[in-house]
Amino acid sequence: MIFGGWQKFSLIDFPGRTSAILFTQGCPFRCPFCHNPELINLSQGMFAPVTEHEVIEFLETRRGKLDGVVITGGEPTLQPDLLDFMARLKTMGFAIKLDTNGSRPGVLAEALRQNLVDYLAMDIKAPWRKYQTHINSTVDAADVRLSAALAMNSGLDYEFRTTVVKEQLTPEDIMEIVRHIAGAKKYILQRFLPTKTLDPAFMEMTTYSDEEFEKICEQIRPLVAECSWR
Ligand code: SF4
Repeated sequence: MIFGGWQKFSLIDFPGRTSAILFTQGCPFRCPFCHNPELINLSQGMFAPVTEHEVIEFLETRRGKLDGVVITGGEPTLQPDLLDFMARLKTMGFAIKLDTNGSRPGVLAEALRQNLVDYLAMDIKAPWRKYQTHINSTVDAADVRLSAALAMNSGLDYEFRTTVVKEQLTPEDIMEIVRHIAGAKKYILQRFLPTKTLDPAFMEMTTYSDEEFEKICEQIRPLVAECSWR
């Protein structure tokens, strides 16, 4: 596993559980609004890079004290040894939350088949027809679509989420996304915060107001079990 950084304790990143967060290095998408640009390339570290050995050594001391581990990115499913690593965490007694952009449905399917995931968080970045432009990558939206179907049929607790740059996604675009995942358990709209972006031009972009988000959520709620914004 190649990690770009970690956070040893969080109360808010794994619903209902205390967790440690592991940031994997590398991502096949190039979202211009990405707020973790240091994690995109496989060769760069965002925080003090940490080795798998250090991670395991630390987690050994947290057995029975910490509920779970969040594996996020970058994109975790790029890591060739992800499933072995997850299996190891499970044998150590940790619940696992996996964050993914859905670009590797094969890896996700296998993780689900092996019961390695306790909570799944998946990004749906844009309507399918706009996907490649939106993520600035040739990754096929059909793969993301397949991953979304896997999540919805998994029987797990899961959430879909969309980071909203106002200049990129109209309320109609957001409703189109929601129609792609109609019937989902949970959909979360995330405010875009221009603190750091992959494309410097996106530092000038904005997001919707609280009132606008609430209005959009009201339209969404009949189509999913739960909708919120943060
Ligand atoms: S925001 Fe986009 S580019 Fe950045 S890590 Fe997530 S999927 Fe990759």
